[in-house]
Parts: sequence; C-alpha cells; structure tokens
Amino acid sequence: MAQSIPPQSQDHQPGVERLLQPQAEHIRADYRGSGKLKGRRALITGGDSGIGRAVALHFAREGADVAIVYLEEKEDAQETVRLIEAEGAKALAIRGDVSRSETCDAAVARTVEAFGGLDVVVNNAGVQYVSEDLTDIDDATWQRHMDVNINGYFYIARAALPHLGKGSAIINTSSINAFAGNKALVAYSTTKAAELGFTRALALQLAERNIRVNAVAPGPIWTPLQPASWGPIDPQAVADLGKDTPLGRIGQPSEMGPAYVYLASNDASYVTGQTVHVNGGMIVNG
Ligand code: NAD
Ligand code: MG
Repeated sequence: MAQSIPPQSQDHQPGVERLLQPQAEHIRADYRGSGKLKGRRALITGGDSGIGRAVALHFAREGADVAIVYLEEKEDAQETVRLIEAEGAKALAIRGDVSRSETCDAAVARTVEAFGGLDVVVNNAGVQYVSEDLTDIDDATWQRHMDVNINGYFYIARAALPHLGKGSAIINTSSINAFAGNKALVAYSTTKAAELGFTRALALQLAERNIRVNAVAPGPIWTPLQPASWGPIDPQAVADLGKDTPLGRIGQPSEMGPAYVYLASNDASYVTGQTVHVNGGMIVNG
C-alpha cells in the first residue's frame, strides 16, 4: 500500500533526492533485466534524479551504457553514476543547462565520444513553477518554461539526430497535464502539450529512417520536482499528490522506468508518434 508522504517543501528548484521524505524508489529490487538494451548507448537529460534516474537505472540493468545531463545537483548525479556502474554499465554525468544549444551539442558530442555512438535519447529535464493566477506569471518564468521544456527537447534531438541510426529511439517525457490541464500550471501544461506536437511531427519525419519518436505522460510521481514546485506554495499539496487518482496514491519513479525500456527497445518496433500513459488510472483524451 501507499507510503504516506508528510507535508514538505524544498525552497530551490531543481530539488534534491536527499531531502525527500520518504526516499523514492527508482528501480524495484526484483526488476530483472533481460538484455533488451544490450549494446545500446543512451543519453538522458535530467537523469540525476526522479524519473530520469529511474530510466537510467532500468536502461543500465537492460544492458545499455548511460549518459545523464543535470543542471547542478552534483550529489544526485554522482549517486546515479554509482548506481549505473553498479549495474555493470558505463556511466557519464554531464553538467549543463539544456536551454542553451551549446550545452546540448556538447552533451551529445561527449556521449558519442565516450560510448562510441548514440542510440537512445530521452528528453526529460524540465521545470515546473506553480502560479494560481495567470497574471502572477512574469515574463522570465513563462520564458524559462519554454526555454527548458520545449527548446531543450529540440536542441537535444537536433544534436543527436546525425548520430542516430535505424532502430534508434527518441523518448520525450510529457505529462498528464498536457491532456487534463492544470489550473495552477498553465505555463508548464503549455510546454508539456508542445512536447507532444514535437513528438508526433518528428515521428512522421523520422519514420522512413526507422527512428522512432514517442512520449511518456506520467501522472503524479514522487520526485524532487514535487516539493520544489508545489512545496513553496502549499506543503500540504505535496502530501496530497495522487490521492485523487483511481489508484489513490502517488507513483514511484520505479513505476515509470519500464515504460521507457519498452519504447527504447525492439519490443516497440511498430510504435512511433504515440504516448504511453503511466498515471494511476486517469482516463485521458488523445
Ligand atoms: P526531477 O527534479 O528529479 O527531474 C528534473 C530534472 O531536470 C532535474 O534533475 C534537473 O537536473 C533537470 N533540469 C531542470 N532544468 C534543467 C536545465 N535547464 N538544464 C538541464 N537539466 C535541467 O523531477 P522529475 O519529476 O523526475 O521530472 C522529470 C520530468 O518528468 C520532467 O520533464 C517533468 O515535467 C516530468 N513529469 C514529472 C511528473 C511528476 O509527477 N514528477 C509528472 C509528469 C511529468
Ligand atoms: Mg535532479
């Protein structure tokens, strides 16, 4: 059953794993890899923590080498590297801001150099700032959402594309909020919907090269983003996350990882331009 989450807040975004109460689960101890990503080389933005760390650990357990990009959370990045290496995979941590195209170009170049190529790209770095009223969103906050959540996905995909061959995959982390909206997350929801348009159009463009492009739309998941975005507005809202889903609880990052394994692997060889919903049972349109 669900572990209860006490009211809490982190006063800085990105948040960090160390302060989460309780700690999150990133991969189940009984998750067994079966070489689904053997020999693949992956790059995951925001791979230091939360959903990105879960994806990194699942990919590593399935046999991939994994590079992660993080903004500034060195401790989380180092721990993720340690955990990837413990799976017997190669790891690389790259610090930088994905809202700058130079960062994304360099991240791809460093990954290709370290691993000898690139096969799987996961766009996952994101920001989320809560505003109850549209008139409270200042220019810089609106722009930051666009710069990180939309431009960052574009810059990473554009940099990666020349290196991707047949059978490669791009996976974009969207959100339930792209479908359901969220009245306190207008800027964020806008970006998460834009990522879906990006996913669908790019999937069409790359289909003839047999490069698949899909999205994952998480529901409420227990990651540092939650106390760092909702916490400063209302610590109780953090404790209540997920209670209104059909399954009645927040999800763990460990419940996200397998969806990314599916989309990255040959199991999804006939799947492109789609969205996989992992959200505790919420029914969504589109
Ligand atoms: P998280 O804080 O663990 O991960 C977000 C990561 O983005 C951070 O680790 C940070 O290093 C990185 N990041 C932020 N700005 C960056 C920048 N400018 N350059 C480089 N990296 C940057 O939180 P998370 O919840 O795992 O978020 C991962 C993704 O999942 C986000 O795209 C988020 O929108 C999406 N998502 C999360 C939830 C949820 O409930 N947690 C639900 C739906 C979608
Ligand atoms: Mg982080």
